[in-house]
Amino acid sequence: MKYWNPYLETLPRESLIKIELSYFRNILSYAKTHSRLYQNKLKEIHPEDIKTLDDLKKIPLTEKEEMRHYQEMEPFPYGGLLGTDVEKVTTFRQTSGTTGKPIYVPETYESWQWRIEAWCHILYMAGFRPRHRVFLPFVYNVYVAFWEGHYAAEKLGCELIPGGGLDTKGRIHKILEVKANAMMNTPTYGLHIAEEANSMGIDPSSLGIERMLCAGEPMPEATRRKLEELFKCHVFDHIGGTEPCGWAGMCEVKEGMHIIEPFFLVEVLDRVNLQREVKEGEMGVAVITPLGRRSFPLIRFNTKDLVIKGESVCPCGRTSQKIKEVIGRIDDLRKVRGVLFSPKTVEEVIRKDFPQIEEFEIIVERRGLMDAITLRAEPRPELTVSSIEKTKNELQDRLKIATSLTFNVIMEPPGSLPRYMLKAKRFKDLREEKP
Ligand SMILES: [Zn+2]
Repeated sequence: MKYWNPYLETLPRESLIKIELSYFRNILSYAKTHSRLYQNKLKEIHPEDIKTLDDLKKIPLTEKEEMRHYQEMEPFPYGGLLGTDVEKVTTFRQTSGTTGKPIYVPETYESWQWRIEAWCHILYMAGFRPRHRVFLPFVYNVYVAFWEGHYAAEKLGCELIPGGGLDTKGRIHKILEVKANAMMNTPTYGLHIAEEANSMGIDPSSLGIERMLCAGEPMPEATRRKLEELFKCHVFDHIGGTEPCGWAGMCEVKEGMHIIEPFFLVEVLDRVNLQREVKEGEMGVAVITPLGRRSFPLIRFNTKDLVIKGESVCPCGRTSQKIKEVIGRIDDLRKVRGVLFSPKTVEEVIRKDFPQIEEFEIIVERRGLMDAITLRAEPRPELTVSSIEKTKNELQDRLKIATSLTFNVIMEPPGSLPRYMLKAKRFKDLREEKP
């Protein structure tokens, strides 16, 4: 079968939108009576007034900062964000807290099952089937993504191998030992496994991985293709977060990602005024309402994820709205010398055309009155002095074309830049005021 839920995945768009608006009114009315955040925040909003997508604009967005404030209340540790009795909570997860105090996310058994079902769509679209023996090379800890992937793969009938307690070499041996043929990982860790396998004299393509679902970081198309090439497998992307859940995934066409409708109502809003829904092909901020989750109701949650809105037709036959591309966190989008810059562009250039660069780091700093942008690049150890010089000049030219910025490129000795296991931190903005 092609679809996980053939009925929902091929519904005409008008029907999908009708269902979503009806679910939206339900969750809004629930949130207003069960969550203190929304009791206060949405006093003046009446669910019956939300009749069209345009009416959503009457409702203010939910920002992470106010969620932190409400979280401080009783009952510990979820406070005014909780949408159910605290005794009904069966599982705790939290955000990574890289940009402030973490948000604690309560799930009841019912709401957790809802998350798993949404994730089943993501995995099924990526071709995960009962014949797959799925290796998960992580300790899941208090973070949500790989737990969701684990339980959704189980629901699909796959066989799970939690490989968290091992180091990378141990994981590679385990994959070979049990003949795992699918994997879920961050793009960074996929590249790391390939590098490690090579250093052990094992060609990554001989590991036998057929399918890989990536999570946790924006993945440039060039990185996705590189992983496909290294492992000789199909690599799929998805987008999600701890608060809203995984909300879009890539189908076998591998062009953009389908929003999991009608589980989520997703708006892509103009990043400056956060009002206007952007057009197809335009960049905006993803604003998400999970429509069936009551333990932790979220109404128009501002994810601060920048995406490009895609089409709503796809050769795979699914009718859901697509996201063409994930650009990254809005906090990572910076003005450098007045030019809007996204670190993802640099990764795209390097992964696509500079296989001789093993690792890199981008640094923005203020020198006098001017911004300076530096790329520290680490070439592969076998490169000769003259080819290092040539690579440096080519990098400078290509980055100028791709970003309109002049990079100061520094070639570093092999092994000198940090390696990342889970999520990469290759972008450093050292300016005091970040425009
Ligand atoms: Zn599709």
